[in-house]
Amino acid sequence: MTKRLLGLFAHPDDESRIVGGTLAKYANEGVAVSLVVATRGEAGSCGEPPLCTLEQLPGVREAELRAACAILGVGDLMILDYHDGLLPEADRHELTGHLVHAIRRTRPDVVLTFGPEGRTLHPDHIVIHEAATAAFDLAADTGAYPEHRFPAYAVPKLYYSTLPRSLVLAVGWRFPGIPDGDVTVALDVGPWLALKKRATNEAHRTQAHDQPFANLPDAERWQTLSVEYFRLARSRLPDHPRHEVDLFTGIA
Ligand SMILES: [Zn+2]
Repeated sequence: MTKRLLGLFAHPDDESRIVGGTLAKYANEGVAVSLVVATRGEAGSCGEPPLCTLEQLPGVREAELRAACAILGVGDLMILDYHDGLLPEADRHELTGHLVHAIRRTRPDVVLTFGPEGRTLHPDHIVIHEAATAAFDLAADTGAYPEHRFPAYAVPKLYYSTLPRSLVLAVGWRFPGIPDGDVTVALDVGPWLALKKRATNEAHRTQAHDQPFANLPDAERWQTLSVEYFRLARSRLPDHPRHEVDLFTGIA
């Protein structure tokens, strides 16, 4: 049976910069990859030098996101209509409902989202982390969001995308990461790094001037970005090893 993966993120480019290698790897291995992005990134940059006006930015960033999905092999993209930067003010029941709906519609084996540190402590990322974690539980609850036309569904595994603290210290990244021992999967995405790079640089052109680990020389930076780290946050599988080499370990 086709395996399925669903990513829940906040802004166009989160999917490429943070988990682009993972999405490309699994899509190229035949996994059906779906993605929810909550905003059109209209609080971001128009580029340096500017590639569009502020009015054009939401449309431009949506097009960039669609181009990135084509590069990475994401076959199913849902963009919600939230405003970039204002997710903490969004109606939480409604936002969580959108994520529950996406889970029930796509019936993924694995859900990926931000950890509690929101990667860069961005308030939108932290809200998506909280809503996605709630949605993992509520999607399985027949009493929750009964108005949805899709039946309740229990996702087997929920992963938080993260960085080990030793790495963030080594590269001088100013955000916290998590203790190394809490990372449960370090996924080598080296074979798919070219796709991640294309999605990040060629698709998301308005954001390409400002990238993670910008203090590192280019080759070292991409080497660092060739491993993507996760923490298994929830599992409904009966038994699984503490440390895994694949997000689909245990999925039949
Ligand atoms: Zn973001």
